[in-house]
Amino acid sequence: MMLSRLFRLHGLLVASHPWEVIVGTVAVTMCLMSMNAFATNDQICAWNRQCPKAQEKILSGDVIILTVTRCVAIVYIYIQFKNLRRLGSKYILGECLSLKRIYFCNVAFLSETDKVNEALPFFLLLIDLSKACTLAKFALSSNSQEEVRENIAQGMAILGPTFTLDAVVECLVIGVGTVSGVRQLEIMCSFGCMSVLANYFAFMTFFPACVSLVLELSRESREGRPIWQLSHFARVLEEEEGNKPNPVTQKVKMIMSLGLALVHAHSRLVTESQTHNMSGSDVVLPAPNMESDRNMSSVDLEQVITLSLALLLAAKYVFFEQAETESSLSIKSPVATPSCSLTNRRGDERCQRESAPPKALMVVPMNKSEGELPDPSHGHQTDELQSHQRRPVDEYPNFTISRGARCLTNVEVMALVECRGILGYRLEAVMESPERGVAIRREILSSKLPAASALENLPYRHYDYSQVIGTNCENVIGYVPVPVGVAGPLLLDGKEFHVPMATTEGCLVASTNRGCRAVTLSGGVSSRVLADGMTRGPVVQMPSACRAAEVKGWLESPEGFSAVKQAFDHTSRFARLDRLQVSLAGRNLYIRFQSQTGDAMGMNMLSKGTEQALDRLQERYPDMRLLAVSGNYCTDKKPAAVNWIHGRGKSAVCEAVIPARVVQEVLKSSTAALVELNISKNLVGSAMAGSIGGFNAHAANIVTAIYIACGQDPAQTVGSSNCITLMECVGTDGEDLCVSCTMPSLELGTVGGGTGLPAQHACLQMLGVHGSSDQCPGENSRTLARIVCATVLAGELSLMAALAAGHLVKSHMTHNRSKANLLESELQPKEAS
Ligand code: NAP
Repeated sequence: MMLSRLFRLHGLLVASHPWEVIVGTVAVTMCLMSMNAFATNDQICAWNRQCPKAQEKILSGDVIILTVTRCVAIVYIYIQFKNLRRLGSKYILGECLSLKRIYFCNVAFLSETDKVNEALPFFLLLIDLSKACTLAKFALSSNSQEEVRENIAQGMAILGPTFTLDAVVECLVIGVGTVSGVRQLEIMCSFGCMSVLANYFAFMTFFPACVSLVLELSRESREGRPIWQLSHFARVLEEEEGNKPNPVTQKVKMIMSLGLALVHAHSRLVTESQTHNMSGSDVVLPAPNMESDRNMSSVDLEQVITLSLALLLAAKYVFFEQAETESSLSIKSPVATPSCSLTNRRGDERCQRESAPPKALMVVPMNKSEGELPDPSHGHQTDELQSHQRRPVDEYPNFTISRGARCLTNVEVMALVECRGILGYRLEAVMESPERGVAIRREILSSKLPAASALENLPYRHYDYSQVIGTNCENVIGYVPVPVGVAGPLLLDGKEFHVPMATTEGCLVASTNRGCRAVTLSGGVSSRVLADGMTRGPVVQMPSACRAAEVKGWLESPEGFSAVKQAFDHTSRFARLDRLQVSLAGRNLYIRFQSQTGDAMGMNMLSKGTEQALDRLQERYPDMRLLAVSGNYCTDKKPAAVNWIHGRGKSAVCEAVIPARVVQEVLKSSTAALVELNISKNLVGSAMAGSIGGFNAHAANIVTAIYIACGQDPAQTVGSSNCITLMECVGTDGEDLCVSCTMPSLELGTVGGGTGLPAQHACLQMLGVHGSSDQCPGENSRTLARIVCATVLAGELSLMAALAAGHLVKSHMTHNRSKANLLESELQPKEAS
């Protein structure tokens, strides 16, 4: 534990200061080289064996051995790079590991000896990248730079102790060769030890620093998304039995190290005494500058062979590796973790075509109950593959890349979701198409529902989910088609509109349509927008009521208002703070920010601006405590007098004069009856009920139907339905009807929210108010407010007329009762009789 903590601290330090570590490591390495510890001294890397610095004649046999070793080293490097692909980032990881290799090469070049250069292949062969890859996986599973540091530290805590012990044991074992007495073996073993030490040194310092730095530099381009999506990788790795250091092995290694250390100490003593005896006299070195003796043609051939092999493999890696990787992913697609194994069934057809039968994999038969997940959409079980494979979690294909996701079957993805290898809510984002993500979520859900067929009639295909993700809805399982009717034409301010209404209430569209006909035949509706200002009302707390009063005073002063306005306005191109309404309750301060919001409904805009304004307020009053950015003083999505009295969003009014003839012929009523009913019902009746803003017959019906059709926030129908409907007798003989609707809090917009979704956008297009107004931002949303208000007026007229004439119940029985229910109730008495 103590050791792990030390390594964790070390990892954290290295990952937090990558520049310092990289520069420090390079500097230390260069210092060592410049001290000629490697080359000019007659000893290699402070090892007690003397190393001839002069060139020896290279025999053709040596050249062959050297060529073979170099070729093996190149192939080994190629295989390691190939394995890197499975980590999901051939470039980022590759860059880090290449940096590590460059470090080794520099060590070799700086040593300036042909011996070390010749030993470079042995260096490379001894470098074990598996631990470096594992450490990199820790780093790549991070969402932020802080997590990168934390994960590198955690990786270091897990891998560091084992790696240190391994390095010690390797050094001591290889070191035995340095006291063998066989000259060539001694030299090679000395290089081997150097390689192990350099590898260890790089793993502990240079490599984690590089990984941390490269990830920091590349994070912006990846928008903070982790490359290695198994964010719980570290936990899994710790839990995995195979990755825990085996205590018995550890003990054996330690005992072995002690024994070997004794052997080295003994041989060193013997060597020192021999050297002492021979000092200054008997060492005979081969003559320098023997290069001319070298067989030039064999050396050239050796270089040509190694270079060609390197180029060939490099070309294969760059140009042909893609296809191979894909097919290998397909072969390996049946995946299982220790806690989560699965059955490979019929999967994506493209993958089936790409993948070869999984011959190469170990096949472990398994009972169905052993982690097999249901696959409700795959009803035909006959074409299931009958094989089951297990493999460790770090062998998962990189499913975060769309190519990888495509090559996983639905069942495999479901298994990953089950063990949180893929987060369920991220399915659309992770799959190669959002629709497949939705389909898989439905499959997962179906198995948990009382009836597996429950989702059959909830459509999900042929929908552009890309517009929904991250904006409109999460955990999507489909969409609910709502019938959309049309009411109109509605003549409004001299222009005709056909109003889309999404509803399941029979009669509603028909009734509104009748009202539209009545007003259009009467010359149409006139309307005005009275005010335009969305609101957000945070609650802040001051140390005392008096201090709160002081803040109120400052906010209401020109200086205070303009300071806050400046902070608010710079958050948007359209939001402009118009008013601050401040109320006190003890030491709590409620500030209602009111602002125009262009064509947007504006809630997000207001929240953003308010936050900045509060920051400004906090600067001036550091003792202020923000309790919530919304203190219900806005008031959003709840009935509230403040909206009714002061307005919220768009405040609109519209009126129409309906001639007596139209009242009679179209509405089947009379002006006097309508006026009387309006007073009794909409005014007195609502007053009796203690209503706030509900002085109307059914404004909410029309508002909701238009809101759903046009992509408005349906919950805002609460405030938006505030309406007072007034009816009067007008005209020379007082038989014509003047009707008006005043709606102070229409919270709506034509950009943002659901207005951009295809169907909703189409409904806005019907009205000619989709998107942002080019000429005058805000004009589209204001027009929509007038349309809503005018359609409400049409709806009020028609319903009031139906009520006055006693037609309401009859028409609902005809047009609104479910036919299925009616049939059932009609059948029952017959069956009974
Ligand atoms: P939004 O989509 O968050 O913001 C509107 C965006 O459109 C802004 O980025 C704005 O630019 C841009 N824009 C382009 N042309 C514009 C124009 N002509 N007029 C206005 N803006 C234009 O929409 P929102 O209306 O502020 O917020 C609506 C969403 O908030 C809905 O999804 C609703 O369900 C949700 N909502 C949120 C809360 C909440 O508490 N936050 C409460 C209720 C509802 P700028 O960046 O320059 O402003």
